[in-house]
Amino acid sequence: LPCAATADPKGRLLVVGATGFIGRFVAEASIESGRPTYIFVRPGSGFSPSKANAVKSLQDKGAIVLQGLINDRELMEKILKENKIETVVSVVGGAAIMDQVALVEAIRAVGTIKRFLPSEFGHDIDRANPVEPGLQMYKEKRVIRRMVEGYKVPYTYICCNSVASWPYCDNTHPSDVLPPLNQFQIYGDGSVKAYFVAGSDIGKFTVKAADDVRTLNTSVHFRPACNMYNMNELAALWEAKIGRTLPRVTISEEDLLDMAAENDIPRSIVASFTHDIFIKGCQTNFLIGGPKDVEVGDLYPDEMFRTLDECFEDFVIMMEKPADAEAVKAAAPNGTVEHITIAAKCS
Ligand code: NDP
Repeated sequence: LPCAATADPKGRLLVVGATGFIGRFVAEASIESGRPTYIFVRPGSGFSPSKANAVKSLQDKGAIVLQGLINDRELMEKILKENKIETVVSVVGGAAIMDQVALVEAIRAVGTIKRFLPSEFGHDIDRANPVEPGLQMYKEKRVIRRMVEGYKVPYTYICCNSVASWPYCDNTHPSDVLPPLNQFQIYGDGSVKAYFVAGSDIGKFTVKAADDVRTLNTSVHFRPACNMYNMNELAALWEAKIGRTLPRVTISEEDLLDMAAENDIPRSIVASFTHDIFIKGCQTNFLIGGPKDVEVGDLYPDEMFRTLDECFEDFVIMMEKPADAEAVKAAAPNGTVEHITIAAKCS
């Protein structure tokens, strides 16, 4: 491997979907790294107060705001050219995966983008095969991969596994919600392991990987050994934090499949991923190997991951702050709540 890991750490980086759940972590990390950071946000209607605050907060830290829709190919070409963007990180949500088609077309037409990171930020979608409706999202992410590869756009796929939090089976943004305080829902026998990564680490390592020559045209896997937990261990960790034990209810494989079959989007998508992670073991049932796979720990052996213990400690601190507790109460575990900014405390 080459010694000079980073090509140009000051290259201009555009985050598409910077107001989103994962997008804010990436945008924050890019700004912190000192790169000129551009954030691309959707204009106009539906712009909620929390999203407006997120944009302002990123702007105050130095981000340059650009507005539009990524499915507007001409606009994207213009934006990429005029702002001399070198790296594009897309963090659009699950419903907008195919909107990236026009973005990829624009990147190809411009021809000067040094790296494109499509919206992945989960499992290795060429290896994992969740049941529907989760599979449909993977099929769309695969279409984008094949397009990028076909056009020879330089790429990096981020396979960061689960965001550090209690993995509610019905919530797309679980780290916006406190772990359980009444009872645990344990998937299957609770013995299947998964990797949990702090949102701030997803951002930090994504930005590091984005201009690392060793990650060119590879999948970057996040497998921090310190954060490999099964449901039973996760429950014990949280019990130790709150100083009491909670009853456990088993959610069987059949229960998860039933939730997935309801096809209630996005809840059923989360149920199908929960089934894939905690019943089938999709994060741990394959070995990383070959020239197309790299692991973050191998790339940056001196960089520490935040531990899940620390992230759970953040939830405890948050519980003790009345203002934050109010915000969390508003965040019912159904995936439809407004974003709150508690996840930033994992940084
Ligand atoms: P969100 O839904 O929270 O945010 C999506 C962002 O994309 C928003 O900023 C949205 O803008 C923007 N966007 C959507 N469509 C367009 C468009 N056409 N043009 C411009 N901007 C657009 O996304 P998530 O953070 O939930 O998901 C991002 C990725 O991370 C997905 O691939 C998802 O599968 C993955 N993920 C991984 C998790 C994990 O635990 N590993 C957890 C959750 C997601 P607006 O603000 O206007 O809506």
